[in-house]
Amino acid sequence: MSLADKDRIFTNLYGFQPWNLKSAQARGDWDKTKDLMSRGQDAIIEEIKASGLRGRGGAGFPTGLKWSFMPKEPRADRPSFLVINADESEPGSCKDREIIRHDPHKLIEGALIAGYAMRARAAYIYIRGEFIREAETLFAAVQEAYDAGLLGKNAAKSGYDFDVFVHRGAGAYICGEETAMIESLEGKKGQPRLKPPFPAGAGLYGCPTTVNNVESIAVVPTILRRGAVWFSSFGRENNKGTKLFQISGHVERPCVVEEEMGITFRELIEKHCGGIRGGWDNLLAVIPGGSSVPLVPAAEIMDAPMDFDGLKALGSGLGTAAAIVMDKSTDVVQAISRISYFYKHESCGQCTPCREGTGWMWRVMERLRTGDADISEIDTLYDVTKQVEGHTICALGDAAAWPIQGLIRHFRPEIERRIRENGGALEAAE
Ligand code: SF4
Repeated sequence: MSLADKDRIFTNLYGFQPWNLKSAQARGDWDKTKDLMSRGQDAIIEEIKASGLRGRGGAGFPTGLKWSFMPKEPRADRPSFLVINADESEPGSCKDREIIRHDPHKLIEGALIAGYAMRARAAYIYIRGEFIREAETLFAAVQEAYDAGLLGKNAAKSGYDFDVFVHRGAGAYICGEETAMIESLEGKKGQPRLKPPFPAGAGLYGCPTTVNNVESIAVVPTILRRGAVWFSSFGRENNKGTKLFQISGHVERPCVVEEEMGITFRELIEKHCGGIRGGWDNLLAVIPGGSSVPLVPAAEIMDAPMDFDGLKALGSGLGTAAAIVMDKSTDVVQAISRISYFYKHESCGQCTPCREGTGWMWRVMERLRTGDADISEIDTLYDVTKQVEGHTICALGDAAAWPIQGLIRHFRPEIERRIRENGGALEAAE
């Protein structure tokens, strides 16, 4: 299983060619966009449904289905909006920035087509504050599209009026959560909203809204040009298409690469990353989908298919397909403790289990790291992660709980070893 160059959607991922409109058009972007739109809104949604595209931002919700929740006849006083999530704050994730740096017109054309399909009046691209150069490129690319008549009134001569606004965030992880992003766009503190109501009912400015990830939108024009059958010919049932994988950590050559969904971890690493540092026997564990998913030990991940169901079967998840590779030099307890600190720091503080729980979990993780704990605390910590998981307004609570659960499930002997070697300091003190 391996993706041929002719089947890559992101043909300028590495920036070998300029990002500008002229070069993008030479690569096939904005080619007969009007014809794609003239198929009609429902036909576009059906094609995306048929392609099997699932959201590329982490949750993996079917994209076409999500669009179909939007009103078919928006009221004049209550327009619909598309919000594109370019916040990309999940540690390990680094794909959307590559799209924006080198292929921004795929995203902008996708915004027009997706926005049209869901009958939206405009798209807001919410870009992470730290992405300074990327934002500059995006602003310039949107301006190019306006100047060429591809956005604005009668966008791309389709007869449809559509605007794209770029909004820079201020660097808070939680603004990557869709309702927090909407709050932030409205000028408020980026704190997640209780759901329901879901954004498709009451989102941005109280109007129907769909929030999609950058990659989910950027692949739309190519899917329509090449067809749902082409896109769904890649990957396995329920896990279709191509995907940008981001591999960081202890491999010879970390990279971002487009591959077929369901490629095995071993093939992905061998083909694109030059192997594991020190060889496969030196692999300890992998966090396969960005820092919020549980780690998977070496033996289990090596030949696992890298897709939603393949990683779910291992008790983890594809997330954003950001694989963080850890070899045997890694202090795995310290690594997870550091992740716990991140989630504690980023908690918005609205709900008690998350606000109090993330700090508590991090403090216990630090004691497990140094071995200054009692063995019974491992179970207590696991219990607490279960009390946080699923009991908060947004998924940050889960994101803080899952890495710890993965550590305890797979590396309990290592945690116990530290406590024993520390001489059961806590028991001795009692
Ligand atoms: Fe805020 Fe955490 Fe509650 Fe999410 S789970 S709303 S980040 S306190």
